[in-house]
Amino acid sequence: MTNTGSQQLDKTRFTRLVDASRVLNSTGELHELLNFITGEAAALTEARAASVLLLDPHTRLLHFMATSDQTHTELLDVPVPLHNSVAGDIFQKNEPLIVEDAGSDPRWNPEADEAVGVTVGFRTDSILGVPMHDAEGETTGVLEALNKREGGFDARDVETLSILADLAGVAVERARLVAELRQANRQLNELDQLKSKFIAIASHELRTPLSVILAYVSSLRDQADNPRTAAKLDHVLNAAIRLRGLIQDMLNLQYVETGEPRLNLEIFNLTNVVQAVVEERRDTSEAKQQKVMIRTPDDPMVVRGDRGAMDVVIGNLLNNAIKFTPDGGEIRIVIEEHGDEVWLRVRDSGIGIPTDKLELIFNRFYQVEPHLRRSHEGLGLGLAVARDLLEAQYGRIWARSNAGAGSEFFVALPLIE
Ligand code: ADP
Repeated sequence: MTNTGSQQLDKTRFTRLVDASRVLNSTGELHELLNFITGEAAALTEARAASVLLLDPHTRLLHFMATSDQTHTELLDVPVPLHNSVAGDIFQKNEPLIVEDAGSDPRWNPEADEAVGVTVGFRTDSILGVPMHDAEGETTGVLEALNKREGGFDARDVETLSILADLAGVAVERARLVAELRQANRQLNELDQLKSKFIAIASHELRTPLSVILAYVSSLRDQADNPRTAAKLDHVLNAAIRLRGLIQDMLNLQYVETGEPRLNLEIFNLTNVVQAVVEERRDTSEAKQQKVMIRTPDDPMVVRGDRGAMDVVIGNLLNNAIKFTPDGGEIRIVIEEHGDEVWLRVRDSGIGIPTDKLELIFNRFYQVEPHLRRSHEGLGLGLAVARDLLEAQYGRIWARSNAGAGSEFFVALPLIE
């Protein structure tokens, strides 16, 4: 071959390598990438076939991951040991190797050929193998070109295949990491769904028995004449009320998501939901000798929303009103038509909220009382969840308050005619 001919060939290889590096950089899927690498390895070195072997870090065996002829899937099941094998030698010595006649090389394992030969009668004659590395320079596998079409593999083939192997090694590492991340992400999502499902079921299932306990204990408490018995029952009642608060937080947690909350929209009368929530909290407010008054319009206040979500929103507002209002205080709930909206107002005679905190309280985990000095329980999620849920139902929520003179929360939802 003349000098000009060889330079021409170098340019062709160079251009092909540049094109290959672009593809390697843009392909994220591991198998697609491996098939591309073997195809390019065979074409660039004018070989009949090529294969990629990657090290399994657990078994310390090399595994064929892809061959240039993608029908050779049998090969993929043949593991190659690091000792006494051509690929193992290349891997261990971390340098390229040319084998002129594989048949007479004791390191060559004819099993690999046999596996392929059964279907396509392939027999390896010559081999050029080079190590592959990850971004840190660790050897991760071997790229082999098999059976040079004409003549034998030469130094230029070694150079070309080494460059391809360097580019490929980093791309394979990246694709493996992406695949691992995707898998981890899938598992996290599954776990997250499992957790949400568990929280949803648990919070639901705990509610009914707890209501029974609350109702029973508070009626016993009302009838208790003996001060010692009354004190004990107060103790049980308070524990049950604390549990009720925890369940409310669990209900909130099922709506704490990164995206839009998943809702089941239906048409219903908001008044019914509000009345049910007030009734469910009756024992809690009565335990604090609070008066809860509710004013509802005669007409049904029909809205399109998620009944369960609205139960959580109203539950949060009423819980807070009870929690932040001292014993003997008052809570007034009003449902009214307001233009083309229905407004729900929950007003209490409690500790109030400083004006500069009226927006902050809707942030996740924000609580006016510093955490260490807190005398009230809760995770600081209720109002943030309420705002998310209302926005997903085309509604709004806001608060008004004067420190020391109670707070008032407003909920607005579009009214359905
Ligand atoms: P949590 O009640 O679990 O702390 P929320 O998100 O429901 O969480 O409320 C956030 C904060 O807003 C509360 O910690 C409290 O400081 C304040 N807040 C909410 N409702 C009232 C209320 N009715 N009266 C006084 N402060 C309130």
